[in-house]
Amino acid sequence: MSKRIVVVGGGLAGTIVASGLCRHLGNELRTGKVQITMLGTSEKHLYQPALLFVPFGLAGDDDLFRDQRKILNRMIAYYVDPAKFIDASAKKVTTESGRVLDYDYLILATGSRIMPQNIPGMVEGGHWFYDLEGARKMRTALQAFQGGKVVVNVNAPHKCPVAPLEITFMLYDYFHKLGILDKTEITYTYPIGRLHALEPVAHWCKPEMDKKGIKYETFFNAESVDPNKKTITSMEGVTLEYDLLITIPPHSGMDLVDASNLGKGGWATTDPKTLQHTEHKDIFVIGDTTNIPISKAGSTAHFESEAVIANITSLIKEGCWSRYYDGKVFCFVETGMEEGTYVWFNYTTPPNPGPPSHMIHWLKLAYNRLYWLSAKGLL
Ligand SMILES: Cc1cc2nc3c(=O)[nH]c(=O)nc-3n(C[C@H](O)[C@H](O)[C@H](O)COP(=O)(O)OP(=O)(O)OC[C@H]3O[C@@H](n4cnc5c(N)ncnc54)[C@H](O)[C@@H]3O)c2cc1C
Repeated sequence: MSKRIVVVGGGLAGTIVASGLCRHLGNELRTGKVQITMLGTSEKHLYQPALLFVPFGLAGDDDLFRDQRKILNRMIAYYVDPAKFIDASAKKVTTESGRVLDYDYLILATGSRIMPQNIPGMVEGGHWFYDLEGARKMRTALQAFQGGKVVVNVNAPHKCPVAPLEITFMLYDYFHKLGILDKTEITYTYPIGRLHALEPVAHWCKPEMDKKGIKYETFFNAESVDPNKKTITSMEGVTLEYDLLITIPPHSGMDLVDASNLGKGGWATTDPKTLQHTEHKDIFVIGDTTNIPISKAGSTAHFESEAVIANITSLIKEGCWSRYYDGKVFCFVETGMEEGTYVWFNYTTPPNPGPPSHMIHWLKLAYNRLYWLSAKGLL
């Protein structure tokens, strides 16, 4: 009997896993011993890390989008038909259109979404670059900006742990190049008592901000924004004035996870080593969807996918387990418009950012193009 693999979510994690499984299980797919079906929400695949460059006019549709069906191997059945309910006991997925799919293995990769609406006034008063519409609006706002007070407000949880630092340093350079830095004051706010959740990164970025004259407010959990007065107020009682408010909005997971009793807040309960759902071992959870307390990042999803691909392949071919995920994450960090550094860490090794260089910045840009090969399972 054929093994049925259903991938729920055609974003970064789901696509890399499905493509990798095709590479490793090519013969089984061709002979009908394995079937892979993917459920997604769009014909287009969005590469979110390129959104960071949209506000500066440095990324367009070519950098952001590909046709999902052109990325995926033809042996994968792809449906734009979101999953509505996962019956983990019966091993069935029901879709929005009423399709019912049985599975032997399910990959849950529905990602996360931004919730600026959770902070009153933020939608009206703030700008963000975490989705395409927001990034394009932010570009227009930046083009109109002539100097003044800029607040970069970070909320938790959020994906890509380093993007708030990147946008802060890039804005600094951008204003410098425009010749309006002397008329501009940048304040970075962070919800806990230091400048970054990863302690070594917090130690690294504090002197970088001090050197540039970037101000900061820690223990700043945004409570509300007054778009008329142009102020943002924290739960801790601090009010900051702004001329331009950039926010990293709080995130949540998808309703499907709660509706299917697989986790709370859209985060599925996941074993940090095996990446199996804690109660349903035939469900593998990867990418932003997990509740593992590590960075929600594309690179996390990429390294997780290597373990999931290896394990499903060996379970199908050899009936045994292959390897564990070790918590590996690797992120490039833009420290300006033309320089960058990187951090890598895992469950046992903390990050240790090195000195920025032009070369690392160019490597980040190069990886953004190479991503499309990863999505096809070629890298
Ligand atoms: C501005 C920005 C910059 C970033 N920079 C970096 C970076 O430099 N490095 C890095 O490593 N990461 C970065 N990231 C983070 C990275 O993009 C995410 O962590 C990554 O996309 C997570 O992959 P995912 O597959 O879990 O989620 P996604 O890529 O969001 O994919 C989830 C998919 O599931 C679909 N879906 C949702 N519900 C359903 C349903 N019910 N049925 C079917 N499909 C469903 C969604 O539509 C989506 O297509 C950045 C993100 C942003 C926004």
